[in-house]
Amino acid sequence: MLDVCIVGAGPVGGVLACRLAQAGMSVAVIDRAALPPMEHPGFDGRAYAIAAGSRPLLDAAGIWDKLPLKAGPIEQIRVSDGRVGRPASPLFLHFDHQDLGGRPLGWMVEARSLRVALNARLNAGAGLSVYAPARAEVSRGRQSAEVLLDDGTLLKARLVIAAEGRDSPLRRQAGLTAARWDYPQSGIVCAIAHERPHRNIALEHFLPAGPFAQLPMAAGEAGENLSAIVWTESNAMAPRLMALDDEAFGAALAVRLGGHLGAVRPVGRRWIYPLSAMYVHRMVAERLAVVGDAAHGIHPIAGQGLNLGLRDGLALAGLLIEAHAAGEDVGSAALLARYQRGRRLDHVSMLLATDGLDRLFSTNNPLVRAARDIGLGGVQRLPRLKRFFMQRAMGQAADQGGNMPVVAVS
Ligand SMILES: Cc1cc2nc3c(=O)[nH]c(=O)nc-3n(C[C@H](O)[C@H](O)[C@H](O)COP(=O)(O)OP(=O)(O)OC[C@H]3O[C@@H](n4cnc5c(N)ncnc54)[C@H](O)[C@@H]3O)c2cc1C
Repeated sequence: MLDVCIVGAGPVGGVLACRLAQAGMSVAVIDRAALPPMEHPGFDGRAYAIAAGSRPLLDAAGIWDKLPLKAGPIEQIRVSDGRVGRPASPLFLHFDHQDLGGRPLGWMVEARSLRVALNARLNAGAGLSVYAPARAEVSRGRQSAEVLLDDGTLLKARLVIAAEGRDSPLRRQAGLTAARWDYPQSGIVCAIAHERPHRNIALEHFLPAGPFAQLPMAAGEAGENLSAIVWTESNAMAPRLMALDDEAFGAALAVRLGGHLGAVRPVGRRWIYPLSAMYVHRMVAERLAVVGDAAHGIHPIAGQGLNLGLRDGLALAGLLIEAHAAGEDVGSAALLARYQRGRRLDHVSMLLATDGLDRLFSTNNPLVRAARDIGLGGVQRLPRLKRFFMQRAMGQAADQGGNMPVVAVS
């Protein structure tokens, strides 16, 4: 009998599997896609902002040291309220890591780098068995769960963890309902090379169509200055921008970015995501826990989706490792109830904060603009309030049981 069977080896399921195996638990991981151990794909333009509070899980899972590409530290964040083609509002927020002891506020990690490190650990980890590509049929009972794979393999585990992303079939089968709403916006994700160095400064520029973020990446293989871009646009405009050639796309991007990085040029692929939010009413059922995007969906305005999922992993891993060490049942109803109770506040507050920020900033209403500029200026002038926001942005309060990142590493 396995301790845990994780369905979905995305960043959340994959990291959690490595962490549990590292702690001596027996873990099976199943993904519908293949997880080749040595794959080193080319640069694809996608990167994650990993908040400082998520790093301990990646360290403990043995992933951080295995990242094949350098992570770029985020040392400062500038938040400004702007209009396309016009100078940003003089009232802006400036977060500096020096105000919190000099540790980076977070890191930019290329998506392919995280994937390579995860696949390497998953394929080599003692206590881990990987089934990919594979489909799983799960039946859950009072004492254990059975997982039947499409090649006929039958696995038995104390607990099944659903980590299959937003459309989680296991969440649906278990009758765990979710409220979902779509934003009239899409997220365009890409990377740019730029003339001047970014000095490890991230920029979150609030524009009427939605937030536009530039995030400092480590230098490219040829030493070029690189940044990731997360650009929110209306659903009408985003496909038109995606259809532009590189030169015209780069020009449209430069108008929104401003001139602080000198000449810019898009590199790698462009990606577009429809944006939606999701609130899952219950995250646990008999012998089942739901984590990551399967358990919540938030607007990427603060780039915290994966960080929220990693904090699910951190919380669940803590409970499971403790129960395993004490010889207790790792799939007990009491443990699952504790997991759900411990994660609820973080989920609700992130959902409300990201949704509220998007509504507050994605408008041209002059009264709302004036009010929020005064708000931004107020936070900037009050050092203790600023520290509070910074700590939340770094995901640090998660360690202390609650968390409400508001202006976050994007
Ligand atoms: C525009 C945009 C920008 C973003 N930027 C950031 C950012 O900067 N920082 C950040 O923290 N987050 C960011 N996010 C959010 C982040 O991408 C997600 O939160 C994160 O990928 C969720 O990870 P996950 O492992 O829960 O799910 P997923 O990444 O969706 O992984 C799910 C895994 O499950 C597998 N799977 C699916 N169905 C099945 C099945 N039936 N059986 C077996 N396996 C299955 C899939 O193959 C996949 O491997 C962004 C999101 C968007 C849309």
